[in-house]
Amino acid sequence: MNKYQALEEALVQRKNHHLYRQAKEIELEAYPFYQVEGEKKIMLSSNDYLNFSHNKAIKEYVKQMIDLYPTGSGGARLTTGTSGLHKKLEKALARFKDTEAALIFNTGYMANVGVIQGICDMEYVIFSDECNHASIVDGCRLSQAQAVVYRHNDMDDLEHQIKIKKPKKGLIVTDSVFSMEGDIADLPNLVGIGEKYQLLTMIDEAHATGVMGWGGQGLCQHYNMEQKPDIIVGTMSKALGSEGGFACGSQLLIDYLINHSRSFIFSTALSPITIACSLKALDLLASDFFPVLKLQQNVEYFCGCLVQQGIEARSQTAIVPVIIGNEERTMRIADELYRQGLFISGIRYPTVKKGRAMLRCTITSGHRQDDLSSAAEKIAAAMKKYPA
Ligand SMILES: *Cc1c(COP(=O)(O)O)cnc(C)c1O
Repeated sequence: MNKYQALEEALVQRKNHHLYRQAKEIELEAYPFYQVEGEKKIMLSSNDYLNFSHNKAIKEYVKQMIDLYPTGSGGARLTTGTSGLHKKLEKALARFKDTEAALIFNTGYMANVGVIQGICDMEYVIFSDECNHASIVDGCRLSQAQAVVYRHNDMDDLEHQIKIKKPKKGLIVTDSVFSMEGDIADLPNLVGIGEKYQLLTMIDEAHATGVMGWGGQGLCQHYNMEQKPDIIVGTMSKALGSEGGFACGSQLLIDYLINHSRSFIFSTALSPITIACSLKALDLLASDFFPVLKLQQNVEYFCGCLVQQGIEARSQTAIVPVIIGNEERTMRIADELYRQGLFISGIRYPTVKKGRAMLRCTITSGHRQDDLSSAAEKIAAAMKKYPA
């Protein structure tokens, strides 16, 4: 018996079940393409929905900032890590999400974990959608609260669970755009239920920020909602093309999080340079709605191409799932597409349920229509080559 044996066996097990994962190195070139050994491939897997991580105006702005600011922040936010740019970005985020205040976390993952752990003590019951992102699940685990999982986007089941638990204090939490299947939460009803039972409501806008609503503000704008959830969490690592998470809400909420969120308190603040990227991205988003519109048009176009190929596809978001089901078949198809010059992630258990493996296509504003139509043809051909 050696001390690595258990780890080794676990990895062998994963390989046998086609669940073994590895990070593929990619050289990012001019989006939406990337190069592998000099070959141009089409990227249909990136969360960089508006191609902001390659944006010239953002890069130019950051070049100026790099002469003015240090490359590292040198401390946690509550010690020495808060620069003027951090404060400015928090104001800009609050304005963008139309809330009183905002707080930056180092990642979206840390925002979810920090908000849920910070708010929910033992007296809380957390009602969480079964398809919520892993960072929400981990936040629930880290908190002292009891977590109740309700059926995916099922508001009747949510209300039913609330009636059973009758919590004195509670939080309802959901992805606003679900990260794997790209469907959207029933936010108006969810917020209504939160009000009715006086429970806090929280949404994770990782895939809605820069995507949903006419100005890319998020799902509240998409639904044109007056009454917003209490807590709006998001990330700057997706459509904003940068890094960092955030929570938006009332000033009271933000003051509370500053004093209670451990992932906020005990981690070094993001570099001012990273903050500058996000600031400029928000600036661009506010001054030009065209990329958001273009993204929405591209999604519609791509879904149309897939349907023409006889593949069921529907999405209101930048995520277009093609459900395959079987894990092995999914990975074979994804590999075949990769050989054909398409980078599309095969997604499987444990990220999604067993037997619901999928090709998860993501669309950006920079894709050209002929890339999208040829991608749809290649997907159809690969599915025929590896039939169920
Ligand atoms: C990506 C993602 C996160 C994590 O955000 P990071 O900034 O990458 O840590 C959180 N929630 C959802 C729904 C996500 O898709």
